[in-house]
Amino acid sequence: MRSADLHTHTICSDGSFTPEELVNEAVNRDLAAISINDHDTVAGILPAVKSGKELGIEVIPGIELTSEYEGIEIHILGYFIDPENPALTEKLASLREYRVSRIYKIAEKLNGLGVRLKPEDVFDLSVGGTVGRLHIAMAMVKRRLVGSLAEAFQRYIGDRGPAYVSGFRLPPQEAIALIRGSGGIAVLAHPYLLQRDDLIPLFIANGIRGIEAYYPEHSQGQVNFYLDLAQKNGLLVTGGSDFHGKGKPDIKLGLVRVPYELVEKLKAAL
Ligand code: AMP
Ligand code: ZN
Ligand code: FE
Ligand code: FE
Repeated sequence: MRSADLHTHTICSDGSFTPEELVNEAVNRDLAAISINDHDTVAGILPAVKSGKELGIEVIPGIELTSEYEGIEIHILGYFIDPENPALTEKLASLREYRVSRIYKIAEKLNGLGVRLKPEDVFDLSVGGTVGRLHIAMAMVKRRLVGSLAEAFQRYIGDRGPAYVSGFRLPPQEAIALIRGSGGIAVLAHPYLLQRDDLIPLFIANGIRGIEAYYPEHSQGQVNFYLDLAQKNGLLVTGGSDFHGKGKPDIKLGLVRVPYELVEKLKAAL
């Protein structure tokens, strides 16, 4: 059966595969389609779409926008967005500026804690798309300041860590509006991680049209719960591996895949 992985990241955010490598890997893993969902950037889309055409695999232009509501991080997936939409690209440029300044702030906090990490070490690991905490953790491992990515988060940069600096995060309503305004479909990412199912009706009112029911960290019971919720609320269903390459070494591309039929349903809803 033809299948699709509808949640992947490239080096343009915090994945370790280039867009070309990712598309090639998708072919190797026998996927009929993948969606590119880099955090807060569209930089990987056009190169991936181009590779997809060359290799004969469908590449869906997408994104994963970071938003925040009541102090919790809400990730909003976008599918079939226009990566050249001016309102979207302008907002992404300002988010990026904030993310760059935040790297300096985190590095300063780390230095205050006796951890000698230079901002340049972090920027060296990003390719000019989205830069964030996973790059910091990778730079810390590379510089042997910590033994693992997990340790970097546990001791320093996790949400409650001493070197944490919060990112600028859009209100979910604005993230959803940006995706819709660029012609895309907005979908709530990995709902179980939020632990706030009570907010789902609000997100639906804000324009969410689908929910990511299939996700590596969702148990079968949770998958069923969100499938049922989708059906009751007339929502589309998506799913994917949240592939990051080296940043999440246990997650292989296509580990979670959905029947291609769900892609057709997304298209029909455009
Ligand atoms: P940022 O958007 O820069 O705040 O970075 C968030 C990213 O950091 C997430 O998408 C995860 O990939 C990663 N992350 C956050 N918390 C952890 C953690 N405890 N362990 C490993 N990675 C994490
Ligand atoms: Zn990520
Ligand atoms: Fe996410
Ligand atoms: Fe993701």
